[in-house]
Amino acid sequence: MSGSSRGTKSEAVSTAEMEKSVLRLEVNYRGIFQKSLAYRITNDLVYAAHSEGKTAFSNGRYSDDPQRNGVPCANFAFFSDALSEDDLEAVASASMDIDRANVVVVLDDTMVKGLEPWGHYGIRPINEKVIPGGTLLIVSRRKPEELIRHLEKKTFDYNIAILPGDQSFAGLWYYRDDATDVRTIAAVARVAPEIVGIHSVEEYVKKKYNDAAKVKSLQEAYDSVVVREVKQSEGIAWPHSKPKLPSWDSFDEGIVVKSVERGFTLGPRGQNRNPNFKRGTSKTQRPVIRFDTCIKCTLCWYDCPDECFDPTADGLYDVNYEYCTGCGRCAQVCPVDDCIVMVDDLNFEDNSSPWEMYKRDAEGYVKWLEEKKGKVRFMPSPVTGKGVRHTEIKAAVPFKQDGGN
Ligand code: SF4
Ligand code: SF4
Repeated sequence: MSGSSRGTKSEAVSTAEMEKSVLRLEVNYRGIFQKSLAYRITNDLVYAAHSEGKTAFSNGRYSDDPQRNGVPCANFAFFSDALSEDDLEAVASASMDIDRANVVVVLDDTMVKGLEPWGHYGIRPINEKVIPGGTLLIVSRRKPEELIRHLEKKTFDYNIAILPGDQSFAGLWYYRDDATDVRTIAAVARVAPEIVGIHSVEEYVKKKYNDAAKVKSLQEAYDSVVVREVKQSEGIAWPHSKPKLPSWDSFDEGIVVKSVERGFTLGPRGQNRNPNFKRGTSKTQRPVIRFDTCIKCTLCWYDCPDECFDPTADGLYDVNYEYCTGCGRCAQVCPVDDCIVMVDDLNFEDNSSPWEMYKRDAEGYVKWLEEKKGKVRFMPSPVTGKGVRHTEIKAAVPFKQDGGN
């Protein structure tokens, strides 16, 4: 338990009665990069709610540990203005996870494409746990419509709220304080004042941080949130199978680690990979490859820590996005300017083979790719509070008619 408050309000009432006063919140974040950030958000919400006399506690989902970089994880918190801590725990937290939420917070907007648990049992929609009339609150620079086109269609109406901002990589071992923590808490107060009011949040932040810039940030965030209703007709039919985690009584006896059958052929998906360890939803950006300027040096294939590259018969290297974690290593080692570039994963619809697209229509592929890449590259500043550095690049090397191979 990461934060709790003591209460003595309950009398003997039924579970159904107790349930009525419970509000649930889930915070989805990128493992390691945003762990401290998510912890701060749920913890601070609990203590701000406590200052209103509510009972509240927060927790993390056990199945997300041990974490790896970028892997989708969640913290959650429960609030009640009627129950004692014991009763709230009894009603809300027996299962160490959360199956529904009044507010689902998303700290990285690329998660709208779906989430995989630590082992691969399928991909779940980010809005799966939002209840009717609840809110999906996303930190993003995009318009609601650009995100809704990735979300699963639901059988009821709910809300989407956008808190303008970039994916904050607040870190684990040190904390890069860009005020995303207090901004998110203020946004929760905006979309769900029944969880905690903005006045309580402001008082709590003043007392905890004694920092005028933090207080100003939360006030600005509160005013900047855009809320829009999502009708049940909006969204997509979910294209993936949803995770069904094994229960304690469905494991094999003893310790069973199934081996992966080894196999290799040239071409897309040519090498066998572990079907239970896909990690494609860990990525915020994906590497895109200009096959026409590739010099076939092998470095991307050799250096990828997740063995995502498949050699092809023409000496190029296809990439399997179902397994790519978006670490950026291949873009770093590629010796050719702008040959591998990391691009926002939300710009892409699926995980199909880029090499196959290139072979079908090389010129069309390069044109499509350059549009996806755009001309601007950005890097977060290493100095706290200095924002993101945007750099405009020179025009890409012209497409070579001979395909460069
Ligand atoms: S970004 Fe590149 S190096 Fe990193 S996992 Fe993906 S393909 Fe491999
Ligand atoms: S590192 Fe770049 S140049 Fe080398 S094989 Fe990979 S894509 Fe081609």
